[in-house]
Amino acid sequence: MAGAREETPVSDADRCDNFIDGRFVPPAGGSYLPVWEPATGRVYAEVAASGRADVDAACQAAERAFPSWRELPTERRAAVLNALADRLEAQLERFAAAESKDTGKPITLARAVDIPRAVSNLRFFAAAAQHFATECHPTSADVLNYTLRQPLGVVAGISPWNLPLYLFTWKVAPALAAGNCVVGKPSELTPRTATLFAGLCGEAGLPPGVLNVVHGSGPDAGEPICAHPSVRAVSFTGGTKTGARIAGVAGPLFKKLSLELGGKNPVLVFDDCDFEAAVATTLRSSFSNQGEICLCGSRVFVQDALYDRFRDELVARAARLVVGDPADPATDQGALISTEHHAKVRGYLDLARREGGTILCGGQPVSLPGRCAGGWFLSPAVVEGLAPDCRTSQEEIFGPVVSLYRFRTEEEAVRLANGTAYGLASVVWTGSLDRAHRAVRDLQAGITWVNCWMLRDLRTPFGGVKQSGVGREGGWEALRFFTEAKNVCLKLSS
Ligand code: NDP
Repeated sequence: MAGAREETPVSDADRCDNFIDGRFVPPAGGSYLPVWEPATGRVYAEVAASGRADVDAACQAAERAFPSWRELPTERRAAVLNALADRLEAQLERFAAAESKDTGKPITLARAVDIPRAVSNLRFFAAAAQHFATECHPTSADVLNYTLRQPLGVVAGISPWNLPLYLFTWKVAPALAAGNCVVGKPSELTPRTATLFAGLCGEAGLPPGVLNVVHGSGPDAGEPICAHPSVRAVSFTGGTKTGARIAGVAGPLFKKLSLELGGKNPVLVFDDCDFEAAVATTLRSSFSNQGEICLCGSRVFVQDALYDRFRDELVARAARLVVGDPADPATDQGALISTEHHAKVRGYLDLARREGGTILCGGQPVSLPGRCAGGWFLSPAVVEGLAPDCRTSQEEIFGPVVSLYRFRTEEEAVRLANGTAYGLASVVWTGSLDRAHRAVRDLQAGITWVNCWMLRDLRTPFGGVKQSGVGREGGWEALRFFTEAKNVCLKLSS
């Protein structure tokens, strides 16, 4: 049951200090914030509460490290990233356990997805940087235009709590591979794996100052990073409101910005789909990581003829999901990230009832015995009967809650799917290639999966439209973001 927070003392080993200039250092102000274990509702560590002075120190270290890091041949930088990947992979179990403890996600998920994906991010961008090429425009017999893509200098990576190391490395790897130095700020709620990762840097051969980690709250540590004159670009993943705030700070300073923001992703289930694949995958796309993935489908539109069967099957399977201790391999659903978030999600379920919705299953705080008695658990909820334009249907909940809607025609489904301020991901289930193509063309989203979900290829552009973000990550897009194009026009003397 989500209960009152209980303070417990922490040891030095559970302290997440900043990593600046190749060393772990306490915050300049000497203060720390508590870190809670979602599965127990108890404080288990503390994290540096950094401010401007720490950000300054990190930016200065990064500035100092930049000239030598930039001068290294790409192959050498790639070798360091690969060495980091090897070390991370060798400690997969340790990192997975830390990620699960910090976030409340099932250990099985951290083991199978979060940490392996962080390893892949490092290896992928180590390879990509070595294949990155630029354009050449031969203008005439004696004039050649070519493009240089130069690293920017000091760049910032600000990441959220839901996929901590996965998203931290998704920013850090391309930035470093392209020759930049990084000041990274993980979420204060989940600082653990970024700290452990920083601890691998020295032995992997990353020179001091090339990667710096500054912990702390968004306003106190994150915002000074975005405003810092040394920082040339900010790659941010998080909520839409925070993204707007960061754009307001960094925009007038003409910094490059990549904003990966919230979503209210639609899933369109047509009556000609593969039923078993659609229902099994929709269960995953609704509730993986407790629904705390920006790509989770939260609005499921089902065609009339299939609606009742699909609803009954989804509800039956959701009710069978095991909510339990994240450390137990039998657990499907772990704990929500914080008591505030637990209350927020429950608040949306109350709102859903007031807005005319029926909670078909779940949505209840779950009391677990033993060490998890104080954890922030919630059973997965399926809701129906909501109007598409009510708040529950429009606002991002970011928890184990999915709502079902009935539609008749393809045109109606696409119109309803597009009817929010967001446009991150969408999913289409159909046996018709023509219908899939039409839907893909008309859906307002940065990503559309057809007859699948979360199949990721790191070469593809990743990002959202509308209030889900600006810019693209992944593949060449990331390497372009972390470099500045310079045109060189060369006239031959002869
Ligand atoms: P937040 O926007 O609250 O925080 C994201 C990061 O920004 C955290 O490190 C946070 O620090 C920091 N931050 C907060 N305020 C500021 C500020 N004023 N200046 C600079 N940095 C700041 O998001 P959450 O961590 O709650 O993550 C959940 C959100 O992330 C959801 O909306 C989800 O959709 C979105 N998301 C989007 C993804 C995408 O690819 N589009 C992927 C994953 C998540 P701190 O937490 O320490 O305060």
